[in-house]
Amino acid sequence: MSLNAESTAFRSALEVIRAVEPRVADAIRAELADQRESLKLIASENYASPATLLAMGNWFSDKYAEGTIGRRFYAGCQNVDTVEALAAEHARELFGAAHAYVQPHSGIDANLVAFWAILADRVESPALKKAQVRQVNDLTEADWFALRRELGNQRMLGMSLDAGGHLTHGFRPNISGKMFDQRSYGTDPATGLVDYDKVAEAAREFKPLILVAGYSAYPRKINFRIMREIADSVGATFMVDMAHFAGLVAGKVFTGDFDPVPHAHIVTTTTHKSLRGPRGGLVLCQPELADQVDRGCPMVLGGPLPHVMAAKAVALAEARRPDFPDYAQRIVDNAQALADGLLRRGAKLVTGGTDNHLVLIDVSGYGLTGRQAEQALLDSGIVTNRNAVPQDPNGAWYTSGIRIGTPALTTRGLGAAQMDETAELIHTVLSQTRSGANPDGTPSKAKYVLDAAVADRVSKQASDLLAGFPLYPAVDLG
Ligand SMILES: *Cc1c(COP(=O)(O)O)cnc(C)c1O
Repeated sequence: MSLNAESTAFRSALEVIRAVEPRVADAIRAELADQRESLKLIASENYASPATLLAMGNWFSDKYAEGTIGRRFYAGCQNVDTVEALAAEHARELFGAAHAYVQPHSGIDANLVAFWAILADRVESPALKKAQVRQVNDLTEADWFALRRELGNQRMLGMSLDAGGHLTHGFRPNISGKMFDQRSYGTDPATGLVDYDKVAEAAREFKPLILVAGYSAYPRKINFRIMREIADSVGATFMVDMAHFAGLVAGKVFTGDFDPVPHAHIVTTTTHKSLRGPRGGLVLCQPELADQVDRGCPMVLGGPLPHVMAAKAVALAEARRPDFPDYAQRIVDNAQALADGLLRRGAKLVTGGTDNHLVLIDVSGYGLTGRQAEQALLDSGIVTNRNAVPQDPNGAWYTSGIRIGTPALTTRGLGAAQMDETAELIHTVLSQTRSGANPDGTPSKAKYVLDAAVADRVSKQASDLLAGFPLYPAVDLG
């Protein structure tokens, strides 16, 4: 029997790698086996297609291509030009954007490109203007000093971390928190929802240069039309980081006021989360920011990753196919089925449900910290991650939440009935886990007690559940 193309491709690749360093080939093989066996509910992960994965393993990896299409600092970039242009065209068409920049290596890089583009466009700095028109040699020491002073301490208003915002939106551990004078908006303590009047009030008081919307742990939609009005009312540039929900925008589940592209001046995203592409980022923007965005390399990026741009072109082409909207809708339907299943069993959910791809369980209802819950679930074959809840009493390390998301399991083909079973498994583990104690008898935020028989039984049920939905069914590594 002859093997299909995917199996042949991956088997051959492993054989070639094995001849040099067999332990790497073994690890790659083990990774596929682990992914096949685990109930992956990590909201930021997915499974890229074989075509997307294969587009990354080739000679494009060897090419330097600093600069932009047709204006490279290296010779011989004609084929890189081809794939970069294709990726950008697919991105523009898919999202209805005026301009797309597909070089960012990751979501954090896409945000850095956006921040610098906005600073360069908006900050009144004569020294910076001189530097922009490439009179850098004319800049005096005093100009450089002024440039650093003028660019620093600009104001950014973004969603607070515990409400679901991202580290790159001005928080201390990230460079954005050191570059910018940051203030954040949270969510309403009673409903858990964004309170647009409060955002407007904060914007009026703080007068940010940049208003950021976007999140990694907020389970609801954001009205970008209202956010843009708020930005306009204070003269801020409106930036949306759709890293988590780009697939829902691409799949036209988020339309009208909930589609960031027509409302924001600039939109950033990852390509590997709900969008289901290779690990990477991209920036979409309105025409007036395009020149600055295209200076991402060398402003904050080194040479682009042409092999990843090739894979972005493949994945974005996939997202333009007629079946992608159905995938995106099933992600949300599954998240709602999972939320309903958990609520019916008595779980406490932040905002009481979801209208996107993720659900945030407040595990204090089970008497646990996020850290205890995450480990107990992992022991039971369920992969999630802990996450702070609004006003989290346990802080960002131990947390009180478990974030779960459906993009990956939806790719595998699981539907509403399996989401209800998943809810049952999660609830079983969390309700059977007890908080542990330190050796001196004080309560621990990390230790927990879960009967091994329960963990084993749930693991078995999780793998039975997955058995009906093979991952990469066309890939047989032999
Ligand atoms: C994941 C994420 C990022 C960072 O993406 P990386 O590719 O890991 O750098 C940025 N912003 C948001 C909102 C995210 O969820």
